[in-house]
Amino acid sequence: MKRQLIVAGNWKMNNNYEEGRELIKKVREMLQPSQVLVILGTPYIHLMSAQSMTTDMSNLKLAAQNCHQEVSGAYTGEISAAMIKSVGADYVILGHSERREYFGEDDALIAKKIDTALANGLRPIYCCGEKLEVRESKKHVALVSSQLEAALFHLSPEQFKEIIIAYEPVWAIGTGLTASPEQAQEMHLAIRKKIGKKFGADLADGTTILYGGSCKPNNANTLFSQPDVDGGLIGGASLKADDFVAIVNSF
Ligand code: PEP
Repeated sequence: MKRQLIVAGNWKMNNNYEEGRELIKKVREMLQPSQVLVILGTPYIHLMSAQSMTTDMSNLKLAAQNCHQEVSGAYTGEISAAMIKSVGADYVILGHSERREYFGEDDALIAKKIDTALANGLRPIYCCGEKLEVRESKKHVALVSSQLEAALFHLSPEQFKEIIIAYEPVWAIGTGLTASPEQAQEMHLAIRKKIGKKFGADLADGTTILYGGSCKPNNANTLFSQPDVDGGLIGGASLKADDFVAIVNSF
């Protein structure tokens, strides 16, 4: 099955309004038509202007970096999935390791967020991945398997079709350490097999699995050349238009 190739940027908490507009302008000028779907994961404040700056681009979509698990209500300071959808974003990054680490999010909570995102028409980009000590004790595949089970395996096959997976080894995020192509492939294949056992081979074959963790223009090609790596979730390098677009062009 032909899978959708994706390069998604995660700006994290960077760029004020003007800086964000400038970055989007540069990215749109540099992007060539291609089979790769580009997703910009911006802070909430940028989504509306990003949408109006990119409505004519069928290969560029927008993601929020989080949403609340409840539909609406007295949750001061929070943003709902429906609000995100209403400004033109189609995707939401959920389960990022920074949300797990600094905001205490666990897979039970992330599972609720996944449900709410799907119910409101957002496609989740679900992040999973192990810390260094887990890899060193060779329990990384078991750990990621348990993350998938806890956050996603309650879904129906129809719901699961909407999920994009991002394998992001925590030790590689923002550190300059990248998983080797072999390490990425080992995990991506394990993830695909795990999905296959639960949802069947067709669904597993059709699931886009991204790699994230210090992916840069100089290593994207070898990572994306692996048979089960369908693109990347890009943090630091998504803040520079030329680096980000070079990664988009790395297949
Ligand atoms: C991320 O935040 O999802 C990420 C992969 O960051 P970086 O590319 O900076 O490691």
